[in-house]
Amino acid sequence: MTTVWVSPSATAFSCLCETCMEGARRSGMLFSDALMVSSVRGSIAADAEIAVARCVSGHEITLRRIERPPALRRPDDRQLQITV
Ligand SMILES: [Zn+2]
Repeated sequence: MTTVWVSPSATAFSCLCETCMEGARRSGMLFSDALMVSSVRGSIAADAEIAVARCVSGHEITLRRIERPPALRRPDDRQLQITV
């Protein structure tokens, strides 16, 4: 399951479904095509602390709002965070 952190003021998000990316990678899809099929966009209510979105394939994506950047236990390059 994908978790996306959104900034305190964000009301829209754009991210990649990690499950779809993994599936695309396994099938040998071109990276550019993989990005296209994995792309998820949507909106989040301004007062929502947490929300669930779904990619086109139906995988759940958890959106969590942060007050400030979380102190990650260890840096993870795979973590995607794209906010508007
Ligand atoms: Zn997906």
